[in-house]
Parts: sequence; structure tokens; C-alpha cells
Amino acid sequence: MNITVLGAGAMGSLFGGLLGETGALVTLIDVNDAHLEAICSDGLRLETDHGDRRVAGLRALRPEAATSAADLLIVFTKSMHTTAALAGVKHLIGENTRVLSLQNGLGNVEKIQEFVPIERILIGMTTWPADMVAPGHVRSHGEGAIKLWSANGAQCASIDDCVTALNAAGLHCTADPTVWVSIWEKVAFNAALNSICAVTGCTVDQLDLVPDGREIALSVAREVIAVAQATGVAADAERPVRNIEHAIAHHRGHKPSMLQDVQAGRPTEVEGINGAVVAAGTRVGVRAPCTELMLTLVRLIERRQRA
Ligand code: NAD
Repeated sequence: MNITVLGAGAMGSLFGGLLGETGALVTLIDVNDAHLEAICSDGLRLETDHGDRRVAGLRALRPEAATSAADLLIVFTKSMHTTAALAGVKHLIGENTRVLSLQNGLGNVEKIQEFVPIERILIGMTTWPADMVAPGHVRSHGEGAIKLWSANGAQCASIDDCVTALNAAGLHCTADPTVWVSIWEKVAFNAALNSICAVTGCTVDQLDLVPDGREIALSVAREVIAVAQATGVAADAERPVRNIEHAIAHHRGHKPSMLQDVQAGRPTEVEGINGAVVAAGTRVGVRAPCTELMLTLVRLIERRQRA
């Protein structure tokens, strides 16, 4: 399978590196020249529980330099860069190209659909973690999993092809027709912890410094699940609530990506997470006041930084 990863940051490099190690033909596409140059000259340094090694043989290219149409295009940009990134690789999307998004947040299918018919889009959720350590160097510790299904809900051969390829790379992937439950439950987790940490500057465990810190996080998560249920997705608040409590108790010193982005002066994924939930809630008549408050506060931080 000719696999192209669009957005070869922390997650894209992890997935591309692990797929490359199975012998798949992998092309990493990114606009971060330092990262691309490091991979081209020394291979990708991949640090996982299975060792610290260099993966050779990956093609690492800027969008305009890539030429071969992909069998599978895995989108791993941050959600606010998806449209521009896909526009940059239109020439790699052939009539048989399947596109998979495991990005966080909502609205990813709609963005991809501007470039590919929905029949060729796969959508999913992953709990694998990854961090970019330095150009050409990515780290991921612990175990994760993936759930995916077709974006239009139909059974199709490309689901099995994709699951097989990801499992060959040790990524623990399951085909799951109820994938939207997992997607929304992860949105609930992220809408709570990402936005509150981004606004307060707290690491996840510090949300316990006052009793209401945890309560606000749980309120956001419950609002998100109420919106999901009103849209017809059978998500359950119990799992995200349990995961948030576990994260607050155990993720000492962890800075969610939205906090890292705010601290680095970069745009965040808040529109695709809290913003998309509030918009969906408006459509189905369910208010999400805590989620909306956090959205407004993160927007304020972003606008101030841009100004
Ligand atoms: P990242 O910022 O490390 O990587 C994104 C990459 O996209 C960057 O290397 C950037 O240069 C590249 N990019 C931006 N614009 C581009 C363009 N126009 N063309 C090509 N490349 C472009 O982000 P990440 O942490 O890998 O996250 C990617 C997605 O996966 C996000 O939606 C995130 O929420 C989700 N996710 C992340 C993790 C994690 O642990 N990092 C876990 C699960 C899901």
C-alpha cells in the first residue's frame, strides 16, 4: 500500500514511522522544513516502548515536491490546517485514494469532503499519544488504540485494508461502526481538559488545586455528551468522566496540546473541539454554557496573541 501522511508532526511521524517499519511505502508530507531535512538526512528517530531507533526509507517531502497518488492518505495536521493542507496535495488524490482522519475534534469529515467524495473517507479516533521532541525526532510512550469506520457508515473493503495495515504496524486498530461514540467521548475529554488548562495555565493535575476545578471539567464533559446524545450519538458521560478523573489524579505535570499551543503563541484546535460542540448544540437546541465560556476565553487569548 502506498501510504501518504499529510501533516508529519508528532502523530503523523509516529504513524508514518511505524507503518514504514512494516515495509509499507510511506511518504511524509509537511511544511516544517527542519523536520523534513532531519528525516531525509538521518532517518526518523522514533522513541517508543519498543526502543529508540531510526527509521530509514521514509520519503519526507513538501507538498509541492510529492508526485505519486496515494492509496491511503492519512490526515494528521491540526484541524485548523486541514483545508489548506489538503488543498496543497490535491494532485496526490487520485480516483482510488482513500482518506483517513484520526484527528481530534469534530468537522473533519466535512473539511475532507471538499476534496474527496464521502464514500472514500474513513474516520476514527486514536488514543495513541505522541510528542515532537526535536526536528526528525518523535516520542510516544504507553499503549494506544484506534477505532475507525467509513464516514458514510457503509461497510466497505477499504475499512479492512486500513485496519490490516495499521495492525501490522502494531497500532491496535479495530473496525467499529459505532466510532462516533468514541469520537464524541474523546471530544468531551478534550473540550474539558484542553480548554481549561489553556485558559488557566494549569497542568492537568493542577485542576485539583481547588475543588471546583474538577467540577468545571466534569460539567464541560457532561454538556458535550448531552449535545452528542441530542444529535443521535449514543455517547455516555461515564467514560469521559472516569478518564478526566484519572487524568487529574495521575497525569502529573501534563500540559495538554491546547496549553502548549497557547504558550507557544500558536493557534489552537479550540474551534474544532469546543467550537464545534457549541455549534452542534445550537443546531439541536441544547445549550452548553461551560463549554461556550471556555471557547470564548480561548478565543480571547488567541485574538490577543494575534494582535
Ligand atoms: P503536530 O502539530 O505535531 O503536527 C501537525 C503537523 O502538520 C505539523 O508538523 C505541521 O507542520 C503540519 N502542517 C501544518 N500545515 C500543513 C500543511 N499545509 N501541509 C502539510 N503539513 C502541514 O500535531 P499532532 O500532535 O501530531 O496532532 C495532529 C492531530 O492529531 C490533531 O488533530 C491532534 O488533536 C490529534 N491527536 C494528537 C495526539 C497527540 O498525542 N499528539 C493524540 C491523538 C490525536
